[in-house]
Amino acid sequence: MSIGKGTIVALVAGMLIAASTVSTGFAAAKPAATDVRFGMQDQATRFVVELSEPVGFQIFTLPDPYRVVIDMSEVAWRLSGETANVGRGVVSGFRYGLFRPGTTRIVLDVNKPVRVKRSFLLPPSGDQGHRFVLDLEPVTPATFDDEARLTAIETPASALEKPPEKPSQTSSVEKSAGFSPDMQVRKPPVPDMGKAAARVGPRVVVIDPGHGGVDPGAIGHGGTREKAIALAAALEIKEQLEATGRYKAIMTRDRDIFIRLRDRVALARDAGADLFISIHADSIGSAKVKGASVYTLSENASDKEAEKLAAKENKADIIAGVNLAQENPEVTDILIDLAQRESMNEGARFANMLIGELRRATGTLQKSHRFAGFAVLKAPDVPSVLLEMGYLSNPTEEKNLKSKAHRRKLAVAIVQAIDRYFAHHDQLSRS
Ligand SMILES: [Zn+2]
Repeated sequence: MSIGKGTIVALVAGMLIAASTVSTGFAAAKPAATDVRFGMQDQATRFVVELSEPVGFQIFTLPDPYRVVIDMSEVAWRLSGETANVGRGVVSGFRYGLFRPGTTRIVLDVNKPVRVKRSFLLPPSGDQGHRFVLDLEPVTPATFDDEARLTAIETPASALEKPPEKPSQTSSVEKSAGFSPDMQVRKPPVPDMGKAAARVGPRVVVIDPGHGGVDPGAIGHGGTREKAIALAAALEIKEQLEATGRYKAIMTRDRDIFIRLRDRVALARDAGADLFISIHADSIGSAKVKGASVYTLSENASDKEAEKLAAKENKADIIAGVNLAQENPEVTDILIDLAQRESMNEGARFANMLIGELRRATGTLQKSHRFAGFAVLKAPDVPSVLLEMGYLSNPTEEKNLKSKAHRRKLAVAIVQAIDRYFAHHDQLSRS
C-alpha cells in the first residue's frame, strides 16, 4: 500500500474495540503497550508494538522533516527495558505519548522519504501477544511528493474513538486548551493595560508547562525529560500562587499530554490572563553551562543563542507530528503589531523582576534576560515570558531540578516576582 502526505491508513479492530469501549460507568483499563522493537524485513524497516489488546490506528507521513505518524487509541506505556535497535533502517529516532484525550501518538523520524508498505495487527500466537506491525520502505522525494498530490484527501479529524468525557477536574483546562484542529485565536487585541487596575477579583496567571505527551522536550544528562520537570515545577508554582489568595492560577496542561503552541496562547487569551509564564528547562552540548534565563518576545532576537532556542522551542508541533500545512500560518509567523508592543513591554518588565528574584534564589546565566520570536509568547494582549529554569545537560542542575525542595525555592522566587509586578501596576493605577 502506498501512502503520502494527508493520506490515512485506518484499521480498526472493530469488534474488540467496540467491546472495550462499552460504557459500564467505570473507567475501563486502557490497552497497554508492553514492548517496541525495530528490525529489517526484506528491504523494509519493520516497527512492532506489542499490545495487551488490539487498538484502532491511523498512519500518515509528513515532510520537512520526513516523519511517520501513528495515532492509536490511548494506550498505557509499560515498556520494560531499552528499546532494541532504535535507528535501524530508515528510522533515526522515535517518541510516543498522549496526543489528545483518547489518542496516543507515535512519531518516527525517518532519514529519507518513505512509504507505508504494510501495516496490520497480528493476533496472539505462541508466546507472542497482540502486535501492531508497520513496514516502511524508502521512496524518492519525487515519488513521495507525487503520492501526496495524487492522494491528497482531506484528513478526517479522527477515525479513532471519540475522546472520552473527562472528569470535571481536568476537563475545563483541556476543553479550553482546545483540541479542535480548526481553533483560531478569537479575541481581537485589547491593548488597554488599564484593565488590571479596573478589574475586581484575583489576578489570572496562566502557567504553561512546556512540551508534554508525544513531545518530551529536552532530555537531560541522566535522561530526565523536560516535560516532566516543567509540569512538576508548574504545579508547585500554581500551589504557591493560590495559597496567597491573590491569584487564580490556570495551567495549560496538568498531565502528560501534548498541547499545540497556538492552543496554549489561545487558552491564555480566553482566560483573560494578566500574565503568562511558560516553564521550561533547556539542554545543550556543554555540560558546564548552568543557570536560569528568562525570554520575552521580539521580532529580532537579542543574540544567536536566543534565536536558536526560540527555533527549538517553536518546533514542538513538528516534534509531535502536527501537519503544519493545515495550520493557520499566524502561529509560526512572528508579526508584531502596535497592539502587542505594550504587552511586550510589560512582559519585559516582569522578566527583569523575575531575573532579580531568581538571581538571589538559585542563580542565573550571565546574560539572563534575552528575547526572540517565541511562538508561545504571542498573545497580543497578555504579557508573556518564557522561563528556562536551568540546564538539564548540567548534572548538578539536573539533580536540582528533580528535587522538590529546589523547585519549591524556584516557585517562591517566581511568586515574589509576580507580587512585585502587580504591586508596580497597582502603584501606577493609583498615581
Ligand atoms: Zn522547552
